[in-house]
Amino acid sequence: MNRRLKEKYLKIFVPLGIGLIFILLIWLGYKLIFNHKLSFLEKIDKSVYADINYDAIYGIHLNFKGSINLSSEYRDVKLVLANGKDEVEIPIEVSNKDDGISFVTSNLINKGINLEYLPIGTYYLLIKATTTEKNKDVVKYFSVTNKTDYDDLEYYTLSKDGKNNKIDIEWNTYEECPTLRFTIKEEALPSDVYDITIDPGHGGVDVGAIGSLDGFEYHESNLNLKVGLALKKILEERGYKVAITRTEDKNIEIYDEGGSAVLANETKSKFNFAIHHNSFDYQTDELNGLEVYVASDIEFDFANLLIENILSEANTQISPKEIYQTVPGIYQRYFSEEDILDDEVQPSNKTTSMIYYYNIRELGGISTHSTNDGRYKDINGYPANPYNKANVTTEPYLLELGYVNNESNLRNIVGNEEKYALGIANALKKYLETEY
Ligand SMILES: [Zn+2]
Repeated sequence: MNRRLKEKYLKIFVPLGIGLIFILLIWLGYKLIFNHKLSFLEKIDKSVYADINYDAIYGIHLNFKGSINLSSEYRDVKLVLANGKDEVEIPIEVSNKDDGISFVTSNLINKGINLEYLPIGTYYLLIKATTTEKNKDVVKYFSVTNKTDYDDLEYYTLSKDGKNNKIDIEWNTYEECPTLRFTIKEEALPSDVYDITIDPGHGGVDVGAIGSLDGFEYHESNLNLKVGLALKKILEERGYKVAITRTEDKNIEIYDEGGSAVLANETKSKFNFAIHHNSFDYQTDELNGLEVYVASDIEFDFANLLIENILSEANTQISPKEIYQTVPGIYQRYFSEEDILDDEVQPSNKTTSMIYYYNIRELGGISTHSTNDGRYKDINGYPANPYNKANVTTEPYLLELGYVNNESNLRNIVGNEEKYALGIANALKKYLETEY
């Protein structure tokens, strides 16, 4: 063969060969991934499905309630996120019923699956159980069906080192077998999604509690704003994207766009801090110190860290107030029979098992039994809470940092607003470090 012909052949066959190998590799890769996925989902036992009848994201936690009609031959029943390769086990509480078992990830709304720490990847929510067949242990997987009133869920993790993960939780993602698919990937926060919301209470004509010190009058609204702005600054320095209901002395409508009961959910914030200062009635006791108001059915870990860190940073103490107190420093105020008769106080259709403060009750949607569906608008003037039936909400805290008509409390607050803010920010840091 002469050189020219050889070169000509090389020019044709070398690229052709490389091209063919390339196509073969793509085809092999595709087969491998696709078959792997298919074989895993095909392995799911389709004789029975678990019903998920409750799902809610509250702050950084996702909770499920459900049931599955499994015979008593099955043992070691677990909930897992699995894909045939990796498996994340989800702790559940299981109870036996006549026709199978029911399960719940947690009965506490701020426990359950911590969405902050799910690994990147694609997973399916499955029931994993062990049975015995021909004297051998056999592990079986069962899929889940949607019996809730809600559709797909979406979550963005808190900003960390300038990064976020997006979690898509989607129903029925594989035709022959209903599934709940979790897709976790790194994705920057969209412009309208935030990490944390701060709500400095009152403002404008509503000055809140009033105190005086050395001949000067102090308004709660201004003290709340100072703490709120200081907290925003600290959290932003720590890499969080922070929304705030007001940055100046102005009135905020509760249920309007950007309002105190709305902004945290509009911005998909994981936590909401309502900042307040208290005052006592001179007719009764003289009070002082910190009160942290929380939702019902929660674990107190974060509330306790708020107390611990505010006390140490701001050199203050917890309130001795006993009314509404659950444990020292932590308060849960419910509607009283009297409140329920008085529609002027709060939007209605309330019960005595509901939290009194809208800053907690309305912000948590279904998790905190939000009541305001607007039915009493003509009586009390409050439009409906747009997140009244939301199952993806913020985790709200209402902080009463001290009593402005207690002279020593006010002296400790004025000029020290950053210290209170630092206490709140440090509590969040410690909570996220210890909560898995
Ligand atoms: Zn207040």
